[in-house]
Amino acid sequence: MIEMQNVVKKYSNGTTAVRDLSVTIAAGEFVYVVGPSGSGKSTFVKLMYREEKATAGKKLEVAKHDLLKIKNRDVPYLRRDVGVVFQDFKLLPKKTVYENVAYAMEVIGKKPREIQKRVMEVLDLVGLKHKVRVFPDQLSGGEEQRVSIARAIVNTPKVLIADEPTGNLDPDTSMEIMKLLDRINGQGTTVVMATHNKTIVDSIRHRVLEIDNGLIVRDEAEGEYELDD
Ligand code: ADP
Repeated sequence: MIEMQNVVKKYSNGTTAVRDLSVTIAAGEFVYVVGPSGSGKSTFVKLMYREEKATAGKKLEVAKHDLLKIKNRDVPYLRRDVGVVFQDFKLLPKKTVYENVAYAMEVIGKKPREIQKRVMEVLDLVGLKHKVRVFPDQLSGGEEQRVSIARAIVNTPKVLIADEPTGNLDPDTSMEIMKLLDRINGQGTTVVMATHNKTIVDSIRHRVLEIDNGLIVRDEAEGEYELDD
């Protein structure tokens, strides 16, 4: 589902955030990306949804899209296959819960009837069917993140990228969000999650990729957050 070979990302200010990354992630996997602040986790996941362009690399493929060759006009097609969830939710403040989720389908030209059915389906999945008419500022952080997850999966992407999705949430709410991401993964979506949350990584076990200084320094099936405690 995701393949990187010798991928490099150097920012225009001269910082090399990703040095020489090679990794293969199969369909249906759940992968944590861990590592110290500034190690390149965010850059690594941004390369997967073409928020950043690779500077060099032999291969960078996500859901069959060749991201080394993709044209700007084709990026919307990539985004149908790759949903993204952020630490700060990035909901549209003047749109209701329903509208925030529906918008992701409207922009790709789905029909109103299909939109209504699917939006209610995903809001039900994230447990927010009763909040359809509410605006983001009337929601708790956990609820906002549920809406953002609903928006990310409404177009049934093959891959879900989550960049520190629990970074702004308390421990209990973080666990609930994790259960939701796990459920989505259980339905077949490949999940890649950059995180600092040791409790989560150590309790809900999945493959762990540890990044340090732009390189993968550990790749462990069902790993812990740190090698040594
Ligand atoms: P992490 O997510 O692990 O904290 P990042 O990928 O955000 O790491 O950052 C990796 C390195 O790249 C850091 O040194 C950071 O300062 C730098 N960096 C990140 N984004 C940019 C940018 N847009 N321009 C220049 N440097 C950046």
